[in-house]
Amino acid sequence: MAEYSFLSLLKNAWNGNRDWKPAWRKPDPRPAYDVVIIGGGGHGLSTAYYLAKEHGIANVAVLEKGYLGSGNIGRNTTMIRSNYLLPANQRFYEHSMKLWESLSHDLNYNVMFSQRGCLNLAHSPAQLDDFARRGNAMRHAGIDAELMSREQIRRFVPALDIDFGGRFPVVGGLIQRRAGTARHDAVAWGYARAADRRGVDIIENCEVTGFLRDADRIVGVATTRGEIRAGKVAVAVAGSTGRVMKLAGVDRLPIESHVLQAFVSEGIKPFMDTVVTFGAGHLYVTQSDKGGMVFGGDIDGYNTYAQRGNLPIVEDVMSEMCAMFPGLTRVRLLRSWGGIMDMSMDGSPIITTGPLPGMYLNCGWCYGGFKATPASGWCFAWTIARDEPHPINAPFALDRFHRGILIDEKGQGATPKLH
Ligand SMILES: Cc1cc2nc3c(=O)[nH]c(=O)nc-3n(C[C@H](O)[C@H](O)[C@H](O)COP(=O)(O)OP(=O)(O)OC[C@H]3O[C@@H](n4cnc5c(N)ncnc54)[C@H](O)[C@@H]3O)c2cc1C
Repeated sequence: MAEYSFLSLLKNAWNGNRDWKPAWRKPDPRPAYDVVIIGGGGHGLSTAYYLAKEHGIANVAVLEKGYLGSGNIGRNTTMIRSNYLLPANQRFYEHSMKLWESLSHDLNYNVMFSQRGCLNLAHSPAQLDDFARRGNAMRHAGIDAELMSREQIRRFVPALDIDFGGRFPVVGGLIQRRAGTARHDAVAWGYARAADRRGVDIIENCEVTGFLRDADRIVGVATTRGEIRAGKVAVAVAGSTGRVMKLAGVDRLPIESHVLQAFVSEGIKPFMDTVVTFGAGHLYVTQSDKGGMVFGGDIDGYNTYAQRGNLPIVEDVMSEMCAMFPGLTRVRLLRSWGGIMDMSMDGSPIITTGPLPGMYLNCGWCYGGFKATPASGWCFAWTIARDEPHPINAPFALDRFHRGILIDEKGQGATPKLH
């Protein structure tokens, strides 16, 4: 398979781009693998890559029911940050940030990681105190954070209505400058290509419809392309976790599926070179490299497996966007879509062995699984290869819900739609 380099670009430019090879093979499923990963989203693909790269386990299949990028990895608003308060989250998301910082080089694929910063706006002195506490905790853990004054914010994001029409005046903010964005589908394609190069079989249009058992133990999967046996079966299906785990007889998990919508405006001239979040409501916005404003808000608030949302959230998000940037009120909305979110009861993920022998589970990504993609795969691969969690993902075990050791970043309690 071709190495992407300046020379290969030059060579292909001269011969009409005829020599590019497919980025990954289209193999038929084999009867057995050491590891089968269900779900060809970001987390499934990164898990396969790190299994092969870090643990030398390349006899692996990733089974995807649709095409690569058809799930949330290709539907998110691409924001990446590690600005957390709680130590378990700080360790995990900062590990992810460090992997992001060298990911394009590691995968030999430009994932367009852009450290343009993420600014959280505070709209009351109490909220600013809260942000200062989080920023101090971050710096204490070696993560960058800066408190910004209202004047600094006015200069940093000139298009922002700093008073929000007089209703929600900005009093300050917290910025993580190493935060930013990446091109979401490039992340899927980059991991797929790099895993394939190490021998992993990526099998698209292959839906898992059941599990093979030997007494209590999971020993493989039934799929629309036949039965596949496996030494280990890993589930990384994000919003479909409830449905897939039910096939294995596990019908109670601390996960709810909800729809989250994303929005993109028509392309406009360079307008804003950071990510901004609105603290008095829920809105996050950045500008894509093509010029569209990319933004989103709350989940729709009801349980669903539909990949489309409803008008009340569209109105809610648009009104927040117009309050924030009155200069954009006449810009047209180009596209919107929805993705199924696996909302956990404490807002934190699950990366664990079990819950059945021979099985491994990765889910509970809520609003934030894109930024977790590298660390999630890295930790899940470790957990699968060694049959025990790495210290970084040990707190994200399933039994924390039985033991009452929740990782509730926002302190909201067991209300998934509030995390
Ligand atoms: C609108 C929106 C905006 C978001 N914005 C952000 C953001 O800005 N920052 C951030 O960090 N996170 C964000 N997220 C969250 C993030 O996208 C997800 O948490 C993350 O992508 C989930 O992991 P994944 O990539 O593995 O999921 P997916 O890409 O959904 O992968 C799961 C895969 O499993 C497959 N599957 C399901 N059932 C089966 C089966 N039976 N057999 C085989 N395959 C199956 C699905 O087809 C799917 O491809 C956003 C999500 C949405 C929807």
